[in-house]
Amino acid sequence: MRMTRLLVPTVKETPSDAQVISHQLMIRAGLIRKVAAGVYNYLPLGLRSIRKFEAILREELTRSGCQEVLLPTVQPAELWVESGRWQQYGPELLRFKDRKGTDYCYAPTAEEAITALVRDEVKSYRDLPKNLFQIQTKFRDEIRPRFGLMRGREFTMKDGYSFDVDEAGALKTYDEMYDCYNRIFSRCGLKFRPVEADTGNIGGTRSHEFQVLAESGEDAIVACTSCNYAANVEKAEVKAIALEGHDKVQAPVEPRLTPTPGKQSCAEVAAFLGLHPSLTLKSVVYLVDDVLWMVLVPGHRETNEIKVKAAVKGSLIRPAEKEELARAGLVEGYMGPHALPDAVRGKVKILVDRTVAEAGPGERPWVTGGNQAEHHYTGVRYGTHFKGDVVADVLTAGGDDTCGRCGKGKFTAHRGIEVGHVFYLGTKYSAPLKCHHLDEKGVEKPMVMGCYGVGVGRTIAASIEQNHDADGIIWPMALAPYHCVVLPLGPEPELAETAEKIYTQLNALGVETVLDDRNERPGVKFKDADLIGFPIRISVGKKGLKDGNAELKLRASKDVKLVKVEEVAAQARKLVDEALGR
Ligand code: ATP
Ligand code: MG
Repeated sequence: MRMTRLLVPTVKETPSDAQVISHQLMIRAGLIRKVAAGVYNYLPLGLRSIRKFEAILREELTRSGCQEVLLPTVQPAELWVESGRWQQYGPELLRFKDRKGTDYCYAPTAEEAITALVRDEVKSYRDLPKNLFQIQTKFRDEIRPRFGLMRGREFTMKDGYSFDVDEAGALKTYDEMYDCYNRIFSRCGLKFRPVEADTGNIGGTRSHEFQVLAESGEDAIVACTSCNYAANVEKAEVKAIALEGHDKVQAPVEPRLTPTPGKQSCAEVAAFLGLHPSLTLKSVVYLVDDVLWMVLVPGHRETNEIKVKAAVKGSLIRPAEKEELARAGLVEGYMGPHALPDAVRGKVKILVDRTVAEAGPGERPWVTGGNQAEHHYTGVRYGTHFKGDVVADVLTAGGDDTCGRCGKGKFTAHRGIEVGHVFYLGTKYSAPLKCHHLDEKGVEKPMVMGCYGVGVGRTIAASIEQNHDADGIIWPMALAPYHCVVLPLGPEPELAETAEKIYTQLNALGVETVLDDRNERPGVKFKDADLIGFPIRISVGKKGLKDGNAELKLRASKDVKLVKVEEVAAQARKLVDEALGR
């Protein structure tokens, strides 16, 4: 492709509304343009990278026995009513009516549609398993679309769904997809980690997010330094955390009501009393399916809603509102588990974090809310003065916590971008949608499902987050829109002719190349080549050409060497082959 033909509107200035580097560079390198919040035009170079990734997805999924289908983006509400999600899905689901007044939505995901298809077309155990995928546009009316393609509203997702006769089959498929995802992201040259993730209402442990490690990632993950365990902080099992002041605790003390005027947060109360915040107890009240739960964690740590929901086996959770607290007789800002009047205790269940219960029962004196305005209790001991209806791990995990899996190693904290997700679904959709099969004995049973998502644009953005420098993008060969750029460095005809000759040879050798045939200064061409991030740059200048040489430069390593004009195309081909493992 000739640069003069290419639509690649590069920009010098960093766009003001782009906070993360991948978003900035995708705009600056002319890969995408915003149309509306979270909705983008894909320009030729951006689309080429996306197509490269899609090709990798297709190859690896096909290798794992998956078949491609294409389902509609516009789906009848009917299907979503059957699964119950028409009611459950919040405002992220874009709903609309057709001219007859029938309800539709723009698909944010396709469990319903695929389950209905398989239900109608597959009847017998003989026709199972099936593993189907599509690469299709999705729409989610995200509350905060941001970071360009990383969190869009309209975006491309590879979504796959598997159907097996039983759990054993489905778990085997799950493992195959897990391996497949490892191959996919490895081929993209990404530094990533599969981490255990929350399974929502489905339970079990079979859910892994594939996280690309990057500072700008929206997800927090922890990894154990001693065993293999890595998980999202919403899920990571914590055995113990650092609790200060423990050693200073002497003989058991008794609860004392202490005035703490105007001090509500644990940090404020701790500072007021001259104690480490980890000696205070944080009380947060949630409403989980109509039950109020007071959740207690050490004051210097955060309660994790997802863990709370799982601990009490709830399905809908939110922080309780002011009026709900007042109605139950709780005093906002001064709540605690000790000396709760019976009438109040009857309306509130108590969930104690495991690190509180295990911090030395009967010994550690906590500071808790006084259950009356402007007061706290000191000297409140777990087991003696309060107990939990449930004790569970409900902390948001963090760096330095002791791993709950091996019980020995410490966690290190990382940020990640979730590019893929594999999920064991069981019969969550097949049961309500009656996606059944007849087993060997002719008994009708629901199929056992899994689902497997990859964010296509998000993966491209994640690759840029990991591979860039001050000058621009550094594409891994596998995702680069073009492998190579050829730059004639001046208006002299012999430069143009030589560049043209090299360009023709590269094309003949199957090296995807852009010839920068613009009438621009070398500086401009270099800058754009670096910004766009072509892995290989071949420049033809007067000086080198005198000795029959062109200059070959690698974007990633910045290695430069002079190569004979006749040999440079073949060398480039070799570099491409090596990088792609061909
Ligand atoms: P997130 O927690 O980031 O919102 P999710 O759990 O809602 O993601 P899934 O429903 O599992 O995501 O979707 C599968 C994949 O689709 C994700 O792993 C992610 O790569 C991608 N994805 C999800 N939402 C978006 C979005 N708004 N923009 C771009 N990609 C997305
Ligand atoms: Mg989401």
